[in-house]
Amino acid sequence: MSLIQVRRWLRESEHVVVLTGAGMSAESGIPTFRGVGGLWKQFRAEELATPQAFALRPNLVWEWYNWRRELIAGTRPNAGHQALAQIEQRIADFTLVTQNVDGLDGQAGIRNLVRLHGDIWGTVCTRCGERRENREVPLAHLPPLCHCHPEALLRPGVVWFGEALPAAEWERAMAAVQRADLLLVVGTSAVVYPASSLITMGIRYGAHTVEINPQETRLSGEMEVCLHGSAAEMLPDLASVLF
Ligand code: NAD
Repeated sequence: MSLIQVRRWLRESEHVVVLTGAGMSAESGIPTFRGVGGLWKQFRAEELATPQAFALRPNLVWEWYNWRRELIAGTRPNAGHQALAQIEQRIADFTLVTQNVDGLDGQAGIRNLVRLHGDIWGTVCTRCGERRENREVPLAHLPPLCHCHPEALLRPGVVWFGEALPAAEWERAMAAVQRADLLLVVGTSAVVYPASSLITMGIRYGAHTVEINPQETRLSGEMEVCLHGSAAEMLPDLASVLF
């Protein structure tokens, strides 16, 4: 019954927002932070993805990013990413707001993409602030340095725990959620703030809310419909109603 309801909402919606988290890319082979395989050596992601960790141990943090970049470089978009690209073709106003940094959504051809947490294929200079694309895998010299000064460290172009989101991306995400008829929440544990506040905002602004996740999350109880399945199995089913 609930899947039939969601199919109908999707067919009738003009403004659709999809909010994704690490679970979206799990079936491409990229571990989530809080699931099996989320550990690197003995560290949890929360101990490495912080400005404090980088200030204390930049080499260690970069080793972790080297490992993640190598892992991601060997992956492809999955059937869920492809289905979102198909849905985008049929919806007048479609926005994908992602917490992911792997770039698989863009690789699948999704165009209207808001990257809340940056891009693992970017670097930012801690001294001059220059942002650059960098696809070297693995990085030969750790930590990588900027050309602006012999001691200027580059950092990964991602948002770490405790850091502010990029203002322009956040504005775009909020505006899209506020006009959404349908908000699909896929593969996020909804514990990372402020990204998770977009879900409560969607509820407040009257969007239909649907969660796609094999597990319960802290916001499952607030959603209109929870589809207990994986992104790569549920999203192609939904996309098919538009073709
Ligand atoms: P999370 O690790 O906290 O939660 C992942 C969620 O995905 C869980 O609720 C889990 O049940 C669900 N899930 C697992 N497999 C799934 C599947 N096949 N289909 C649908 N759902 C599935 O992730 P989060 O909420 O995104 O927060 C962690 C932070 O770390 C975010 O910023 C996130 O984007 C980042 N991160 C990114 C990547 C990536 O870019 N691929 C990978 C790990 C973490």
